[in-house]
Amino acid sequence: MHESKSMTKDPVCGMAVDEATALHTEREGKTFYFCCDHCRQKFLSMPLGATTKGKSEGCCG
Ligand SMILES: [Zn+2]
Repeated sequence: MHESKSMTKDPVCGMAVDEATALHTEREGKTFYFCCDHCRQKFLSMPLGATTKGKSEGCCG
């Protein structure tokens, strides 16, 4: 079992995602990673600062 991958968190649903393979987008000079395009689209539709402040809706599990 290798744990050398760079894992991060989907800011929309809180799911752990792998930076190497996850969908991502840049905003405000940072890169955010998502478990699926649904989360990415949702993130892009949110106002800045709203991420992770609401309750997690768990789009995909
Ligand atoms: Zn997600």
